[in-house]
Amino acid sequence: MERYDADAIERRWKAVWEREGTWEVPNPGEPGFDATKPRSYVLEMLPYPSGEPHIGHLKVYSIGDAVAHYARRNGYRVIHPMGYDAFGLPAENHAISTGEHPRASTEAAIASFQRQFRRWGISIDWTRELSTHEPSYYRWTQWIFLRLLERGLAYRKEATVKWCPKDATVLANEQVIDGRCERCGSPVEARQLEQWFFRITDYAERLLEDLDSIDWPPHVKTMQRNWIGRSEGAEVVFRCQELGVDYPVFTTRPDTLFGATFFVIAPEHPDVFRLAAGTPHEQRVREYVNRAMTESPEERGAEERPKTGVPLGRTVTNPVNGEELPIFVADYVLVEYGTGAIMAVPAHDQRDYEFAKAFGLEIRTVVVPSDGEGGSPEADGGEGDPSAPFVGHSENERLVNSGPFTGMPAPEAKQAITEWLQRRGLGKLAVSYRLRDWLISRQRYWGCPIPVVYCERDGLVPLPDDELPVLLPEIEDFAPRGRSPLAAAEDWVATTCPACGGPARRETDTMDTFVDSSWYFLRYCDPRNDSAAWDREVLESWMPVDQYIGGVEHAILHLMYARFLTKALADMDLLGVQEPFATLFTLGMITREGAKMSKSRGNVVDPAQYVERYGADTARCYVLFIGPPDQDADWTDEGVEGVHRFLGRLWRLKEEVAARTGEERGARSEGSTGDARRLLEKSHWAIDKVTRDIERGFQFNTAIAAVMELVNAAYRLKDALYGDPAGEAALRFATSTAGSLLFPFAPHLGAEVYDAIEGGRVWEDPWPQVDRALLESDTFTLVVQVNGKLRARVEAAVDAPEEELLRLARESAAVKRHLDGKEIVKQIVVPGKLVNLVVR
Ligand SMILES: [Zn+2]
Ligand SMILES: [Zn+2]
Repeated sequence: MERYDADAIERRWKAVWEREGTWEVPNPGEPGFDATKPRSYVLEMLPYPSGEPHIGHLKVYSIGDAVAHYARRNGYRVIHPMGYDAFGLPAENHAISTGEHPRASTEAAIASFQRQFRRWGISIDWTRELSTHEPSYYRWTQWIFLRLLERGLAYRKEATVKWCPKDATVLANEQVIDGRCERCGSPVEARQLEQWFFRITDYAERLLEDLDSIDWPPHVKTMQRNWIGRSEGAEVVFRCQELGVDYPVFTTRPDTLFGATFFVIAPEHPDVFRLAAGTPHEQRVREYVNRAMTESPEERGAEERPKTGVPLGRTVTNPVNGEELPIFVADYVLVEYGTGAIMAVPAHDQRDYEFAKAFGLEIRTVVVPSDGEGGSPEADGGEGDPSAPFVGHSENERLVNSGPFTGMPAPEAKQAITEWLQRRGLGKLAVSYRLRDWLISRQRYWGCPIPVVYCERDGLVPLPDDELPVLLPEIEDFAPRGRSPLAAAEDWVATTCPACGGPARRETDTMDTFVDSSWYFLRYCDPRNDSAAWDREVLESWMPVDQYIGGVEHAILHLMYARFLTKALADMDLLGVQEPFATLFTLGMITREGAKMSKSRGNVVDPAQYVERYGADTARCYVLFIGPPDQDADWTDEGVEGVHRFLGRLWRLKEEVAARTGEERGARSEGSTGDARRLLEKSHWAIDKVTRDIERGFQFNTAIAAVMELVNAAYRLKDALYGDPAGEAALRFATSTAGSLLFPFAPHLGAEVYDAIEGGRVWEDPWPQVDRALLESDTFTLVVQVNGKLRARVEAAVDAPEEELLRLARESAAVKRHLDGKEIVKQIVVPGKLVNLVVR
């Protein structure tokens, strides 16, 4: 018999799909649009094109494709598009070191990705393909920027930024890993620069609340909540009398205000140099701030870390008692939290306490346990400074040493003190978020140009929509020199002011590439629209994305930014959804022999190599079979072999059954008995199991295992079924059902098997339906052990009594061998599962 020729099979079906545009789906108003079908938007996160696709890509697109196929066969019109997140630093760094234009290397990578995705047979509507570096796309990124600018959601401000001296660019907090640049590893420095921001903080509350309206994994929601970091308390104003400047701080414990004995600002606080200026500490402050910028928030905030800081030589006034508190800059205060400044209450905060100890500052107890004695908290040895701070819950505390508020229960005091401050204009109730505005300026070439100019007369002038896109100019030197490489493109920079017609200069920063990927799912809906970013009616025929699929590493930023932009656009009445991704699935990583894959380890699995050797169906099926797709899984070559053998077995079954059985179709033989009946029941069991596994969080691994079981059952029973019409009908049904159920995971072979038996196109036929009547007297696979070792699996009726299970177990040929000449001393039956025979 011929062997399973995956390559020939895959070519044949791919050719059909490509020729017929099978996976293309029309928009409303286009020929073939079927308004009666419900829609389903299945989307995997778009890839960053670099080199060749890696194993993670194989996994994510195999998952997405299974979801898309399953939805189509359940009667949905499915949009399943593809695009490329094409701007970004790696291509630019490559350009700096090789001189190759980032466009050239990026487009070469895109071509590789396209080739591979086609080779894998992913069911993509290629007519919707887009790439974020194409002017036809970034024109609309610029258009969205202008809409945000009009609404005050895009703005410029001077900010202390993290700066990579080697890459000569601003880094977002997330691009700083352990104080070093994520890209090149250089220690990060502090710089003050005018930057563009998006006002995502305006949306903090909605970004938080609307998490309740979407079906996302709980751990992803938690990550989003923590990133937004909402807390309730009071904003209290501390005034620096010398400079006449107010410094508001946020505190969740306004009841401890009388215990504030010093004041700390973060190294990134915009006023740090202004406060230090003219004091004897100026130089030390500068050095301290620079050093602090090289360390991560986690390191700086760590409890056990020795506290360091520098006095600024100035004071602020505590609004409740008029005391002057010395100001310090200290790296344990993070600008990410609150206002970047804190009132320090060393008696009741661990870090403040350690700082006070290190600098010999006063520690003043102001709250004690409600049931405690006098003014001495438990931790207080009595006289002098306590040996540790007293940090409790305000519900069980009352105030001491707090002027008119002394004796008041802490929860009441929180309110009373806040009200007292409010009446004097020195404070108010406040909610604080950890979320900061989104810094989108990048001093880089390979990104989307920001569509504004600077005119001497008019200042900042946004370009009118009809001047978009602002094309990225061609340049030859990509190396950053402390400003954007675009600044060197003099002909491009010098332009005309759209307001007055006089000379103007273009903005030379480009946008963070996260902006590009925050709206691409909208453009897929209407990708060829030349007159608008999208048509609203078309957009609403697809949005929101019903199933979004991607790596958990994007659980915070990408998802937060996309949610923000969607809400902002909805507020401008440009679209009608508040949340872009109704359902989210995050996938686990693939390791090899237990280790993370990396080039340096030399253990990287190149999917192309496996596809070449075994075919796309094997690679795709294996990557789904390897474990639950939301979990990490370990790749082994033996595992690939095993899946390949299974596909070969199904192919041979199809060959044999097609050759040896009659052409009668549809003979579902309701009246069939014996083995024919058992095979029909097994087929319906598999339909039921695969369907439930897919619907229950994409448990593709157990779904594929169920198809394997069905194929095994067909092999076991087939010889007894040939020659009997009902038996042959059952065999044909089992075989085509196996092809049909496998189609979402191994589409080429699934189509081949189904066609050979049913003479039809599996993707045009509905998903198989379970016949419950054939499930009722279902069988199950009884595991038989001898002395705890697996020796056989036998089919048994679900309702078989224990004696029957024991009889089946003992009479199985494989078990008999192990019983030979031995005595059974114990028989253990776990109904519905296993029999263990203990022998001696
Ligand atoms: Zn760097
Ligand atoms: Zn002007």
